[in-house]
Amino acid sequence: MDDKKTQKFRLRLLEEYQKLIRSINRNRLAEEEIKLENTEDEGDLATISHNKELLYNLHESDFQRLKSIQEALKRMDRGEYGECVRCGEDINEKRLMAVPWATLCIQCQEEAEKESASPRPVLAGMLKPEEAEEPEI
Ligand SMILES: [Zn+2]
Repeated sequence: MDDKKTQKFRLRLLEEYQKLIRSINRNRLAEEEIKLENTEDEGDLATISHNKELLYNLHESDFQRLKSIQEALKRMDRGEYGECVRCGEDINEKRLMAVPWATLCIQCQEEAEKESASPRPVLAGMLKPEEAEEPEI
């Protein structure tokens, strides 16, 4: 990948990073509001704990995304950006446009999803090569 393209993806990553920071701050504010509600109305505990769980899940995915973006920027500094961490092939640029923090090419991502016992889709960039063990045949 040439410098010009790398620069374009770096800007995209930084933009996503800023968005996530804002989103995390918004969630923090929402959390404060839920705490306030909690003191005003103790009758609706089910709703409150449900909201808390929702926020927690939101936080989790935001922080995971944040980590993926930081990782992608580090890879960029090492000149490894855009390479699949599993097979070493270049990741399709269209895929990088959609998921700039992706660390797996489409094929490896699909394989990783198949291998994963979890019914939830594997998040792009979440699977490290050492965690993606090849099944023994
Ligand atoms: Zn691959």
